[in-house]
Formats: sequence, C-alpha cells, structure tokens
Amino acid sequence: MENKKEFRSWLDAHKLEHPIVIAGPCSAETEEQVLKIAHELKDTDVTYLRAGIWKPRTRPGNFEGVGAIGLKWLQKAKAETGLLTATEVANRAHVELALEHDIDLLWIGARSTVSPFIVQEIADALEGTDKVVLVKNPVNPDLALWIGAVERFHTANIKNLGVIHRGFSTYDKSKYRNNPEWQIAVDFQTRYPDIPLICDPSHITGKRDMILEVSQTALDLNFDGLMIETHYDPDNAWSDAAQQVTPDSLIQIFKDLRIRKEQDDEVGYQSKLGVLRAQ
Ligand code: PEP
Ligand code: MN
Repeated sequence: MENKKEFRSWLDAHKLEHPIVIAGPCSAETEEQVLKIAHELKDTDVTYLRAGIWKPRTRPGNFEGVGAIGLKWLQKAKAETGLLTATEVANRAHVELALEHDIDLLWIGARSTVSPFIVQEIADALEGTDKVVLVKNPVNPDLALWIGAVERFHTANIKNLGVIHRGFSTYDKSKYRNNPEWQIAVDFQTRYPDIPLICDPSHITGKRDMILEVSQTALDLNFDGLMIETHYDPDNAWSDAAQQVTPDSLIQIFKDLRIRKEQDDEVGYQSKLGVLRAQ
C-alpha cells in the first residue's frame, strides 16, 4: 500500500494527548436518547458520538434500527455539543444518506467486511471521500479478508482510512462474546503501522465489567483509540444491553486506564511483549 502516512492525518491532532475515543449507544433509539447521551459525553475525552441507525441483527424480528431519521438526531447532537458523528453503513443507500447528513465517520460492520461484493459497493459509493472510514475486522478470524476490504477502500481513494478490531466469533462459548485473537490485530498493525487501529472492547467482551481490562490490553498493544458503547440506561437499551456502560462509567474507565505517551516507548514495548507471552 502506498502513501500510508496520509492515513494518519485525521488522527494526528488527537494522538498526542489521548487515544481517539468514539462513544455512544449501540443504537439510536429516540431523539431524546441521542441528545441526552451526547450532552453527557460532551465534556469528556470523547471525540466522536457513535449511534447505529441501521442494525445488522442476527435473527429477524429484533429491533433493526430507526433508519434515516436517526441521522437528523446525530446532526442535532453535533450542532448542540460539537461532538463529531459516527454511524455504520452497509450498502450504497446508507452511504448516500450518511453523506447527505454530513456524518463525519462511517464504519463498516463485521458482517459487511466478510463480503467482497458489499465492501466493493460501499467503497464505490464512498469513492474519494475525505470522511473518516473505519473497517471492522470480519466476523471470522481471517486477516487476508480484513486486508482485502481495506485495499478496496484504499483503491477507492479513501484518504482517512482506519480499522477497528472487534474480535472474532467462535462456536464454543468463551468468556468473550467475540474472541480477541490479539495476534491478528498485531499482525495487521505490523504490516500497516500507519493505518490507525481502534479497539472495540464492547463487542469483544459483550459484558460491561470487562471493558476496562480489554481496553488496557489494546492500549498496551499500542492501539490508537477505543470505540465504547455508552448509554445512560444500559439495562434498558434496545440492543446490546449487557455491554453498554454509562457515561459516568466511561469517565471512570478513562481515569483508570494507563495511557501510553509517545515517550514511554520502552514501557509500551515491554507490556506488549508481556501480553504476547501471556497468550
Ligand atoms: C456495532 O458497532 O454496533 C456493531 C453492530 O458492530 P459489529 O459489526 O462489530 O458487530
Ligand atoms: Mn452493538
């Protein structure tokens, strides 16, 4: 991949002080919910307010998102709080609507990354955009498939490209909702050190009490940011209730995290080795 440096541009402004933080509900539910969460996250380390508008649900009959109306709620939240906005896009129509509503960051969900046809459709629709585009890993532990999706966006001249590690599904139950398989993320980072790498501990753990520990591992492995699902009433969230944290818990997580500064390279390297040895 050529010109990898340019991918970092959107991150550089934030990287020195904080890892980049994307937070907000799994799903936009109502206008009031989106605005209330946005105001609670306004004066924190959060840069991007996330909210799923179209939700890929495993089985039919569950809440599948509020649809395009939610984009207006995100715009209103941005106008009122100054937070940048983020949502998932899974086809050309989603991309067109998200761009029309000036959403700042678009992510590709794990269920989309597995499909080269859908990835290509989204990449074509985004061609040349300067919005931030983050590609989640595919649901299955396949580094080449993840890289292939990133290459399709790179070829579509997406300048502000990054990836999100959200873990990999397994048939056997483990303590994680999606097994982190840290080695795959580390291999990605080794091959593409200039592509920002964000961790999504919410979908890795599936449980709010494990978010801190997984976030710390990600920072120890030199990830560039975190995406953490946040809701003022997690237990009553319309999707992913068990893994969302309140804005107050998010603030506490950021107090508890040891955030590696650039000058701590040696410390970061040692803890990275520690994590890999533990595996
Ligand atoms: C999400 O971020 O809400 C989501 C559906 O994530 P994933 O694609 O990682 O399952
Ligand atoms: Mn979710």
